[in-house]
Amino acid sequence: MSRKPIIAGNWKMNLLQSQAKEVFEGVKDFCKDYTAQELPTVVIAPVFTSISAVESVKCDCGCGGKKISIAGQNCHWENSGAYTGEISVEMLKDAGCDYVIIGHSERRQYFSETDEMINKKAKAILAGGLIPIICCGETLEQRESGVTDSWISGQIKAALEGISSEDVAKSVIAYEPIWAIGTGKTCDSDEANRVIAMIRNTVKEVAGAEAADSIRILYGGSVKPNTIAEQMSKSDIDGALVGGASLKAESFNEIIANTMKVAVNA
Ligand code: PEP
Repeated sequence: MSRKPIIAGNWKMNLLQSQAKEVFEGVKDFCKDYTAQELPTVVIAPVFTSISAVESVKCDCGCGGKKISIAGQNCHWENSGAYTGEISVEMLKDAGCDYVIIGHSERRQYFSETDEMINKKAKAILAGGLIPIICCGETLEQRESGVTDSWISGQIKAALEGISSEDVAKSVIAYEPIWAIGTGKTCDSDEANRVIAMIRNTVKEVAGAEAADSIRILYGGSVKPNTIAEQMSKSDIDGALVGGASLKAESFNEIIANTMKVAVNA
């Protein structure tokens, strides 16, 4: 099965509205020379306050703004209510988002996001018609003590609990070894591919072969323009979740360009 690659930029807590617009316009300017078919699925996750700023300059080439999709960096599982500081799926959709990142290691580490919360968020995102980008990954300690696979398959099983195979098939998973995030230490691409194949197998166990074949699984962790081609050449890596290198249009565009050189399937 051929899966269309995804290059997703996670801007984290960076870029004011004017800066966000500038980077977004730089990516849009690059994408205008390619059809949506030629491009990977390009996703950008700005801070909440910049979503409308980037939405206002979304691509107007006739693609319906679909060449670059917008993602929320988090959400709550309830639609509305007394949850100070939170944002719902409906609100993200209303603001123009198609995707929501959940379970990022920074959310798990600094904001106590649990597997149970991630599962509730994934269900709410899918029920609201958006696509979850579900992050998972091990610490260096876990890797060194040999529990990487069991830890990650546990995270995936918990995140997908009670979700239909059809919904699992359209979801996205990002494998992000925590020790590789923002450190410049990219995971060896054969090893990243091995873990991602293991994740695909876990998806097969819980949601069947068709969902496992369809779901797109990304690698994240210090992805740079000079690492992406090798990563994309691997059998099970369907794209990248990019942090630091997505903050400048130049490097993010280079990652998109190098992805297109290797494989854009659908
Ligand atoms: C991330 O935050 O998801 C990430 C992978 O960051 P970086 O690319 O900077 O390692």
